[in-house]
Amino acid sequence: MIELHHLNKTYQVDGRQVTALQDIQLQIPAGQIFGIIGRSGAGKSTLLRTLNLLERPDQGRVLIDGIDATALDQAGLRTLRQQIGMVFQHFNLLAHRTVAANIRFALELAGELDASAMAARVAELLALVGLTEQAQQYPAQLSGGQKQRVGIARALANQPKLLLCDEATSALDPQTTQAILQLLLDINERLGLTIVLITHEMAVVRAICDRVAVIDGGSIVEQGTVVDVFLHP
Ligand code: ADP
Ligand code: ADP
Repeated sequence: MIELHHLNKTYQVDGRQVTALQDIQLQIPAGQIFGIIGRSGAGKSTLLRTLNLLERPDQGRVLIDGIDATALDQAGLRTLRQQIGMVFQHFNLLAHRTVAANIRFALELAGELDASAMAARVAELLALVGLTEQAQQYPAQLSGGQKQRVGIARALANQPKLLLCDEATSALDPQTTQAILQLLLDINERLGLTIVLITHEMAVVRAICDRVAVIDGGSIVEQGTVVDVFLHP
């Protein structure tokens, strides 16, 4: 369970203050798929990045399973971030490494497995995302959907409890988007991990989210189950 309490964040731009987050209050239940939707500039990506403290709020607290992430020291933050996977709009793959090596890279950074355990884990992740055949290919040889499957496998490498998705399907065509959303749904069900995604597309929220928060001008203007927020007459 994640709780955000009274988060505020402003940026200084050319001596001006830009409000990115304003008194954000959110509860994200464990095991669910939680969508944060809003237009460009609404504060989605700042909000997502406060969950792993890539962005530090000016005020407020980020509680993850009761632990105040804003109070952690560097070592505590490193441990926390290992329990949080992140998936990016533009995949962020390493161009000069194969699919398998891109996934292994996340395991190397964590430094917890020996070479043979890493190989076994990479094989397991490739099977999970359906890329066993592409293990030795390079990112440039893959379709967009396949690249995102690598991104998802890499994000899951260290068995995170939480997966953050930053516009994970926004660079994909509608058909590929459906397949990637289905993969996220399968992962949520099979691994039981919590997924928080940000998107500007209602269809993404409708397709896979349990709960949703609508953000506008840095404030949450509505939150609840997808049925309550979008589907009630
Ligand atoms: P979204 O993800 O919904 O597009 P962002 O969180 O990226 O929104 O941005 C929220 C607001 O904060 C916008 O006004 C944006 O211009 C501003 N902002 C975001 N990141 C920075 C930054 N690093 N420096 C200055 N302003 C920023
Ligand atoms: P640098 O240290 O110069 O940033 P890296 O080789 O660490 O370069 O990373 C290159 C790119 O791959 C970056 O865009 C980074 O965000 C991404 N990346 C590297 N490792 C991971 C990871 N474990 N999870 C997500 N993205 C990663």
